Amino acid sequence: MSPIELNQRQDKILQIVKEKGPITGEKIAEQLNLTRATLRPDLAILTMAGFLDARPRVGYFYSGKKTMASVTESMMNLKVKDFQSMPVVVSENMTAYDAICQMFLEDVGTLFVVDDRSRLQGVLSRKDLLRTSIGTQAITKIPVHIIMTRMPNIVYCHKNDSLIHVAKKLIERQVDSLPVVEEKEDGLEIVGRITKTNITKAFISLAETNDL
Ligand code: ADP
Repeated sequence: MSPIELNQRQDKILQIVKEKGPITGEKIAEQLNLTRATLRPDLAILTMAGFLDARPRVGYFYSGKKTMASVTESMMNLKVKDFQSMPVVVSENMTAYDAICQMFLEDVGTLFVVDDRSRLQGVLSRKDLLRTSIGTQAITKIPVHIIMTRMPNIVYCHKNDSLIHVAKKLIERQVDSLPVVEEKEDGLEIVGRITKTNITKAFISLAETNDL
């Protein structure tokens, strides 16, 4: 069942039952300085929606079902560092042919290109290499720095960024992956890689941790 949004009073009731349950309707009303009758509709909603269980003569107790607010909170807590993969980097002077081999060997769809100080210079996608392969230049000769997308046009992220913001960047910029970087005096060091697959895995883990 999809999570429903609760009003402020219903959230308070849930909090009380979580801390003090099992607890009777009268006791909940007392804690909120309200009458039992005022609370009746809220308790009915919470019970029908499955957030609370009620037992005659025992009272209400918390069922463990998550609210929309807690799903949203756990979504905002997903961080790049918890889902990132290892980056695969190649040198600027590697040939397009060798880059294609590297892509197969490492089983990735994007290669990050670095200079001789290991600083990010470019990104190479599958289609960048396909385009070169059907072009007129010899793929065994052409270096990747000629065909890559280069700095400063690279979209990147940091390990403490929220995964939801990274997912938005992937969609807005229409790319499959972002390098995870750390800023250094002489450029960007690549410390990871976030792809649409990582985002999909995070999506599944969100559903699992929230019993959806
Ligand atoms: P494909 O080209 O195989 O569909 P992408 O959608 O990831 O893969 O790449 C589209 C274009 O965007 C390519 O030219 C690639 O070099 C470039 N690109 C890929 N990732 C990035 C990125 N993080 N920042 C900037 N450009 C990128």
